[in-house]
Amino acid sequence: MIKVVLAQPRGFCAGVVRAIDIVDQALTQYGAPVYVRHEIVHNRHVVDNLKSKGAIFVEELNEVPDGAVTVFSAHGVARSVFAEAKARALPVLDATCPLVSKVHHQGKHYVAKGRTLILIGHAGHPEVEGTMGQIDGPVHLVSHEADVFALDLPLDTPLAYVTQTTLSVDDTKDVIIALKARFSDVSGPDTADICYATQNRQTSVRDLCEVVQALIVVGANYSSNSKRLCEIGQEMGIPSYLVADGSEIDPAWMAGVSVVGLTAGASAPEELVLTVIEALRKIDDDVVVTQMNGIEENIEFRLPAALRRGAKAAVTASASATAVTSAEAKSSAPKFTISKRAAAVLAR
Ligand code: SF4
Repeated sequence: MIKVVLAQPRGFCAGVVRAIDIVDQALTQYGAPVYVRHEIVHNRHVVDNLKSKGAIFVEELNEVPDGAVTVFSAHGVARSVFAEAKARALPVLDATCPLVSKVHHQGKHYVAKGRTLILIGHAGHPEVEGTMGQIDGPVHLVSHEADVFALDLPLDTPLAYVTQTTLSVDDTKDVIIALKARFSDVSGPDTADICYATQNRQTSVRDLCEVVQALIVVGANYSSNSKRLCEIGQEMGIPSYLVADGSEIDPAWMAGVSVVGLTAGASAPEELVLTVIEALRKIDDDVVVTQMNGIEENIEFRLPAALRRGAKAAVTASASATAVTSAEAKSSAPKFTISKRAAAVLAR
């Protein structure tokens, strides 16, 4: 018998749900094709599904034809990208997660106060590129404690930090401690900018790893928050595997394993979690599924005004350039209820 213990919470966060809804709604209201700059969220399954409905994914705006409805991904974009869209009068819908926009606002606030900005994050990640491109003046990117000691700044420089939203909570704390140890005047948010969804999923994986012999994380191998979940399992001494879906499960992983933990990154749909359970049932026909107690999330972010109105009127780059703020966040009934299909698979 294999006992599968599901992490709670796992999978889609409110920012991902909103971003996918924006593309879906745009296709409904404006018709295909809708152009999306960068993968709307880091999951191939989600992207392929939207492609099948008429979304076209591009990396740069020069690949978007004049006049085409264009969506910016959940990771956020630099101001130069907004400016380019505005110069071309492209109709833009901004799917930047409100929690990423909040980091942009914080960074601008610190710079306006005369502080030199440190961004804790991973080079090359689109969220990091977007945040750096939102700030006037230099932004110093650090990923690890060692980067702090390599910063070529006077030790009394007034500094402030902001962080990528999907980092490891513990690693980020270490970087902040190093910043405060080396520099005499460091400001930053009370808690790091790591978002609620990342923190909740990391906490639940830590709890999960106390009771399982192996961990499977569903998510893309280029998804920052999914990779962090897998790393936490490895740090806790649990054999941990990051898979796109059930087709990547290696039966050898289950040798001698009777209790396996299963979770998903914030951009991975629940139906991919179900494919893992189905794959495990091919290895052992006696699979029992349970779910850990955990935080019930009830965060939901509103769609951009143009889509809320259901108006067919063109959205403009200048209008959408007004950043969505956390004020657009509202609580509602839990969004992450289990689907009928999920219930059926779990009950088998
Ligand atoms: S992981 Fe956090 S910051 Fe990223 S989209 Fe989800 S809620 Fe927003």
